[in-house]
Amino acid sequence: MKYYSTNKQSADVSLQEAVVKGLAPDKGLYMPEKIKVLPQSFYDNIGNMSFQEIAYIVADAFFGEDIEADTLKQIVYDTLNFDTPVVHVNDNIYSLELFHGPTLAFKDVGGRFMARLLGYFIRKQGQKDVKVLVATSGDTGSAVANGFLGVDGIHVYVLYPKGKVSAIQECQFTTLGQNITAIEVDGTFDDCQALVKTAFLDDELNSKLNLTSANSINVARFLPQAFYYFYAYAQLVRQGKAQNVVFCVPSGNFGNITAGLIAKRMGLPVKRFIAANNSNDIFYEYLQTGEYNPRPSVQTIANAMDVGDPSNFVRILDLYGKSVEEIRKDILGEWYNDEEIREIVKNTFDRTGYLLDPHGACGYQVLKEQLEADETGIFLETAHPAKFLETVESIIGKKVDIPEKLQAFMKGEKQSIEIGNSFDEFKGLLLN
Ligand SMILES: *Cc1c(COP(=O)(O)O)cnc(C)c1O
Repeated sequence: MKYYSTNKQSADVSLQEAVVKGLAPDKGLYMPEKIKVLPQSFYDNIGNMSFQEIAYIVADAFFGEDIEADTLKQIVYDTLNFDTPVVHVNDNIYSLELFHGPTLAFKDVGGRFMARLLGYFIRKQGQKDVKVLVATSGDTGSAVANGFLGVDGIHVYVLYPKGKVSAIQECQFTTLGQNITAIEVDGTFDDCQALVKTAFLDDELNSKLNLTSANSINVARFLPQAFYYFYAYAQLVRQGKAQNVVFCVPSGNFGNITAGLIAKRMGLPVKRFIAANNSNDIFYEYLQTGEYNPRPSVQTIANAMDVGDPSNFVRILDLYGKSVEEIRKDILGEWYNDEEIREIVKNTFDRTGYLLDPHGACGYQVLKEQLEADETGIFLETAHPAKFLETVESIIGKKVDIPEKLQAFMKGEKQSIEIGNSFDEFKGLLLN
């Protein structure tokens, strides 16, 4: 299948090129030229299928023309070696727990899939010494770094904003060593993202190095996120709760929710979506006013959503023919400030016993306020609350159990390179 750039100024490319390049030369994001609607028989039977079986069918619709069946199946099955259960919280509200993977955030799905697919293409091209650049607001870095750890021929550079990710998030990508280098940028997440984007547009760097990006701009990370929307729906079918399903997605760069919108295009019966934000409410404002005004991000306790210029916004525009009216038909927006997020985490824990993380809290609360009586609401619990340990413990006034997987990371020693936010410094580092 061909992939086109959202800016429509660059030529269409193969899957391989889209994955290896990441960003299109015209700075657009790649989109699949076709979104296949899955047959009714698939939906009739979905409640009887496993996560891996469902995901393979979805993956085949995206990638089946470009990767042999055996290889694709193996990549899907290896990627999804953990569950994403749907858990009832209260009333008609369910949590889709996406934190049971190795780094305890939803980004494990896309990160693991991408690492495997890119590894496959690089071997096929006989390439060595590929540099993967990834900017992180907290959870991407660990999911991508852990996905690529020890993979021959690939070196990962994780750029993160100094002092703006939680201590536990930081140790998940700064303690790994081997082929992973953590770069601590004196700036914001947007600065990190800008450094990565500029690197891809720099002729000298691209002539000397094999660069690729592992941010959600990469189709190999972005599209696999559709898998768990289908599987969540399957779980609701089993519970007889699959009528008028509303997905609520805590959003930063809007990759996760866009994958859900694509699932809907493939025929997944979703009534509507909600994009939940923190104080970085650029998308909410866009829905209200029809105007998109990116601005510098502000720091919040839901730090993985501290994004002032969501990179996947252009994909949403592309899917809906740039029409805000069409977008409003499918997506509602809402946002909460830090004080509200604290209250949500505390009240929900006290009343239901369910411990939300600060991102999932935004998702849960919109459903609580907006869900209609005949709807089933499902919010994406995008990370485990223990990843935001100090914040969550200070809110509920109790110790939070730290999963073993997370404790293992906390024992390692931090290694990072500190830089300012100038491109020349970053470029010099890559060239040496
Ligand atoms: C990355 C992240 C988000 C935002 O996801 P996007 O795909 O960037 O919208 C939300 N919550 C958590 C915990 C994350 O790590």
